[in-house]
Amino acid sequence: MGADRAEVLVLGAGIAGCALAYHLADRGVGPVVLYDPRTPGAGATGRAAGIVTEQHWNRWDVEVTRESQAQYAEMSSRWDPSAYTVNGFVRWAHGAEALKVLDAARSRLRGWGVRADELDGAGLAARVPWGRFDDGSRGLWCPSDAVVTPSAIGEIYAEGARRAGVELHLGTPMESFARRGEAWELETGGHVLRASSAVVAAGAWSKELLRSIGHPLPLAPYRTQAAVLRPSSGPDVFPSVHDIDADVYARPEAKGRVLAGDGTRLVEVDPETFQTGADEQFVEHLADTFGRRFPGWSDAELVRAWAGVCTSTPDRRPLVGAVSGPDRLYSIVGFNGFGVMRAGGVAARLADLIASGGTRAEERLAEVRPDRFRSDHPAFSPRPGFTLDDGDDPRF
Ligand SMILES: Cc1cc2nc3c(=O)[nH]c(=O)nc-3n(C[C@H](O)[C@H](O)[C@H](O)COP(=O)(O)OP(=O)(O)OC[C@H]3O[C@@H](n4cnc5c(N)ncnc54)[C@H](O)[C@@H]3O)c2cc1C
Repeated sequence: MGADRAEVLVLGAGIAGCALAYHLADRGVGPVVLYDPRTPGAGATGRAAGIVTEQHWNRWDVEVTRESQAQYAEMSSRWDPSAYTVNGFVRWAHGAEALKVLDAARSRLRGWGVRADELDGAGLAARVPWGRFDDGSRGLWCPSDAVVTPSAIGEIYAEGARRAGVELHLGTPMESFARRGEAWELETGGHVLRASSAVVAAGAWSKELLRSIGHPLPLAPYRTQAAVLRPSSGPDVFPSVHDIDADVYARPEAKGRVLAGDGTRLVEVDPETFQTGADEQFVEHLADTFGRRFPGWSDAELVRAWAGVCTSTPDRRPLVGAVSGPDRLYSIVGFNGFGVMRAGGVAARLADLIASGGTRAEERLAEVRPDRFRSDHPAFSPRPGFTLDDGDDPRF
């Protein structure tokens, strides 16, 4: 590490920390140091599926995802066009309860200006020709949704930040981190950095990091799984799909392969010791769903399967903003499995707050303020993220 003083220290170089460093530099804040004891793709970002959809449960998420998507489209067109593709997203259900949730979601989404077309069985078969929809399924089609390569988007932000003067400090363990006098002090690799402000962007590790500095937030890291499969035939680009009843999603992956997932396990895990391989049960569930729902992919071979750690909050919204105003401590954490699609937009809003503050910047993060929970919030179980409900019924 070169600098020994910074204006802002960003802790964590996943997509959220990289996007924040980029946006801070873009607003003239500096010096900014971005620190990670590992490498930028080492956390959830390097293990994510990269689906970007406006099918959310509240207006704030829709707006933030739209802002992220605009950034990803623009930045990838300049740096790496293969990192961003608009392919649309189809989501369907067939059980009576799930269909009710789907219908309510459609009206809600339209009210927020999201184009969400209804599809009947024939419409679903036309959009997803490798699928079987003769069981009364109905769905929603969002043509402007996209897929990104999450690690590539993170790298684009990191490179943009570096070119704008941000110092990246990667790959040395954190020896200590504490508030000393008027500054945050980070000791790593035998070097000490003092910063006026610090931002915790350490994904699933944030829970322990915040606890260790006396500012705990209600976070629950949990495991979720994905796999790449290779069908013998099929198009290279197709819409991302989500079968709500089976709880399986899939998106196109390079070279005609399919990335499928949602083996979410709603049990808290430690990001240092979690099981990084996929469960047999998850792989069997995928094979079973592909056999029943996707006859056109039923011969797909498993290429690889893995798990990553996402971070839940009690209300499924992230914790973004000032954790402690007097100490100039901020967080951008708790993405509940949706951090890739929300990172760019959320980071830009937080950068505005840190760069200039003001009522407008505060309002734009009002729904996700970290202080909406008490510091002694009781332990809670992780809740599923990839749902369509409005918060009352977390099953769908
Ligand atoms: C299988 C899977 C599929 C997913 N699919 C999607 C999807 O389709 N769409 C979507 O939007 N999201 C998806 N997600 C969620 C998404 O990956 C996360 O929400 C997002 O990557 C979180 O980014 P982050 O930068 O907050 O955290 P991370 O990427 O986890 O980065 C945190 C970083 O902090 C670092 N760190 C740890 N300790 C410290 C410390 N003490 N100091 C500084 N740094 C530290 C870590 O090394 C790590 O690099 C998926 C996740 C998984 C696992």
